[in-house]
Amino acid sequence: MLDTTVVEEFQRIVGTTHALQEEALTATYTTDWTGRFKGSSPMVLRPADTSEVSELVKVALRAGLSIVPQGGNTGLVGGSVPLHQEIVISTLRMDQCEPVDALAQQVTVGSGVTLADAQSHVSSLNLEIGVDLAARDSCTIGGMIATNAGGINVVRYGPMRDQLLGIEAVLSDGSIISHLEGLEKDNTGYNFPGLLAGSEGTLAIITKARLRLHPRLSERCSAMIAFRTVDDAVVATSQLRGALPTLQAVEVIFSEAMSLVSDHIGASVPVGAGSQAWLIVEVAARTDPTDELATAIDNLGPLAVDVAVGLDTATRNGLWQYREKITEAIATQGTPHKLDVTLGASRLSEFVTKVPALVSEVDGQATTVMFGHLGDGNVHVNILGADGNEPNEGVDDVVLNYVAQLGGSISAEHGIGTAKREFLHLNRSRAELAAFRAIKNGLDPRGVLNPNVLLPPEYS
Ligand SMILES: Cc1cc2nc3c(=O)[nH]c(=O)nc-3n(C[C@H](O)[C@H](O)[C@H](O)COP(=O)(O)OP(=O)(O)OC[C@H]3O[C@@H](n4cnc5c(N)ncnc54)[C@H](O)[C@@H]3O)c2cc1C
Repeated sequence: MLDTTVVEEFQRIVGTTHALQEEALTATYTTDWTGRFKGSSPMVLRPADTSEVSELVKVALRAGLSIVPQGGNTGLVGGSVPLHQEIVISTLRMDQCEPVDALAQQVTVGSGVTLADAQSHVSSLNLEIGVDLAARDSCTIGGMIATNAGGINVVRYGPMRDQLLGIEAVLSDGSIISHLEGLEKDNTGYNFPGLLAGSEGTLAIITKARLRLHPRLSERCSAMIAFRTVDDAVVATSQLRGALPTLQAVEVIFSEAMSLVSDHIGASVPVGAGSQAWLIVEVAARTDPTDELATAIDNLGPLAVDVAVGLDTATRNGLWQYREKITEAIATQGTPHKLDVTLGASRLSEFVTKVPALVSEVDGQATTVMFGHLGDGNVHVNILGADGNEPNEGVDDVVLNYVAQLGGSISAEHGIGTAKREFLHLNRSRAELAAFRAIKNGLDPRGVLNPNVLLPPEYS
């Protein structure tokens, strides 16, 4: 229960219609996209701009309250929902896009702008945002920065951190930092955009961002290529990366995921039924890159079992739906544990081949469904328990320890959230964790901002 005077202060700042208290109104803000993480909150606040965020944070600080910043609530690691009775500050009303700076090829947008809206805003000038992902209709620019989102085009443009030229944010004492000039070279001290990218709402609430844009490459071609073995798909990925300067995406679907998604969309496997892995490859350029892709695929020789090519938008979308609908298809089966990991190229095949057996040793009824962004070595390991239930908790431990043993990362692009904080020590030394704690203490000494995510409990 919140003190009445605190409630009134919050209502005065955002207006009563944007200070939500009834459970029926707060429900969508307190359960995450997967349904695995369910919390509750005494109040969900929906500020309209940076100054309202600043005022809200000052009140929360005085009242000793903690805050979970939230964008589209599509995060997959339990970092966006109030699991410890925190108040929620939703950025969804901060959804304004400023005019595109065509000369600089940059744009400044509110943190609550969805990726799809940002994409459509810049597309009229034939420009595009460097990061794209399947949750584009709901995920926000602020949430994508806070998680340093990756997605399907990292092979070409890098993750969200690489798109950032400036940021505006509210710190834990309510002060505002704003550096949105978008200068390509600016060595005037610490780099706040870089620091806040991947900070998961623990250091500041992002309210605006200045983004680098890329020329829209209208000539595109996609192909789905089937492979007999996981190893063949890994070798082919390396060859395609070397051969194709126009490479925009290299995604992978492993067999369990392919059978699930084809059932979900009610279509048969387009090529190579019975294969172990399929790549979806996209090339994009100013002039038609189809011949370049065809030659590169020819040069794969016997590695490629079969190929389907998408030249026009409809056929390309037809191939891409097998990749984009997987997360949705898995959700129809129950509540999975989602382990999003990166392996070095030389360990990928070993990892993908061995993980289902490791999982079975811990939970004999679990199903392991894998897919991902193979161009970046990123595999999404989804583990479903029996009858749609969560699997035995021990599966996380066995998979993440195996990742660390192979020299990989336990979080490729989704972040740490609450789901992986107890495993962060697998990738980060005591000295690194102590430095993380020092940064958190320096910027948020009272633990106002998302105090229960990212840092392991013993460092909280
Ligand atoms: C179908 C589907 C596909 C996906 N595909 C990908 C993918 O390919 N690549 C990928 O990287 N992710 C993917 N995701 C995960 C998710 O979409 C991303 O993590 C996304 O960046 C989260 O954005 P959001 O606005 O929903 O953030 P939220 O879920 O609301 O929040 C995520 C984290 O960021 C913090 N946060 C949110 N907004 C702010 C802010 N303004 N200031 C400070 N902190 C903030 C929250 O506190 C939380 O810790 C996918 C999710 C789904 C459901």
